[in-house]
Amino acid sequence: MKKISLHFKVGLSFLLLSPFSKSLALEIVDYGSLRIHYYETSETLSTYNAERSFSENEKAVVAGAAQYLESTIGNVGARDVNIHMMWASGLSESTLGSSSSSAYILTTGEGYNFMATAAQTVWAYGLNAGDANSIDCQIIFNPSFNFYTGQDASGFSGLDLQSVVTHEITHTLGFSSSYNSMTDLFGYEYAADEYAMQIWDHYLEDGNGNLPDPGSSGTPGDFNQVDAPVYWTGENGNAAYQSMAGVANNAQIPIYAPDPFQSGSSLSHVDELGFDGIGGTGDDLSGMMNYALSAGESYREFNAVEKGMLEDLGWEIIVIPEAGSLLLMAISACAVLLVGRRK
Ligand SMILES: [Zn+2]
Repeated sequence: MKKISLHFKVGLSFLLLSPFSKSLALEIVDYGSLRIHYYETSETLSTYNAERSFSENEKAVVAGAAQYLESTIGNVGARDVNIHMMWASGLSESTLGSSSSSAYILTTGEGYNFMATAAQTVWAYGLNAGDANSIDCQIIFNPSFNFYTGQDASGFSGLDLQSVVTHEITHTLGFSSSYNSMTDLFGYEYAADEYAMQIWDHYLEDGNGNLPDPGSSGTPGDFNQVDAPVYWTGENGNAAYQSMAGVANNAQIPIYAPDPFQSGSSLSHVDELGFDGIGGTGDDLSGMMNYALSAGESYREFNAVEKGMLEDLGWEIIVIPEAGSLLLMAISACAVLLVGRRK
């Protein structure tokens, strides 16, 4: 792990997801490492009620997303990752979907505590945390949109559901900041005055070199969470970025950090517009993990930069903590996908 750092201001609101209020009988489908729990009309989890069930077409879309991830990620998990999905009201009108993850506080050999999503913990690190029935992630889709559910990834005009499904699941793989915009502190307070940050935050840096820091607003100075953009420091992601045409060989991936801060979006997405000013020529970083999706767009697979970032997030690396030090915390790593215009 890098040393800690901190910064930004407003951030994601961390919702305590544990204990999840138990759901009713669900349809459960196993897609390799992912077990998807489909909620039917009126089934509930947390504060959400399923407004309707999933259609067969929609389940086929989810299957396509799960199979892509299964074929792209080589890690061997200790158990399947349980992802609970439903169509429910309660999201803002411009939000297509939102994901929340349970998380674990892990400890490195040096005694440093950090936070990993349940998916990172059991799948990337292979730690047998929780149990086969643990609710590792909840994904809410906004039923007020008419999504495109076709198999063809081009030649359509609607909002591509598979792009949204893959995007939200990817947040649960650790593509998410633990910055709290309400307190202007990084990390989750898992015990009195004890904070741990998501692995993601260890790879952020603002334009002045300030870093996130657990229980702090940044180090050595206040992290500028509206730096538009902030930057990624992970070497795998940046190496992929620097290999793009027109990108400087010391450039860092721009991370979405608009002013004003956008809770749920800021600091947890790649900024496809942040390319200018850091050595690039105008190539864009459009991809699955941008904060917004427009009608007719499809990002069902990771680009090289996103793959590098996933490697940085432990999908190949990272200190392996000891299983005996696991502490279930159940924190949400909220992440939303907003409809917006690109460019
Ligand atoms: Zn997102």
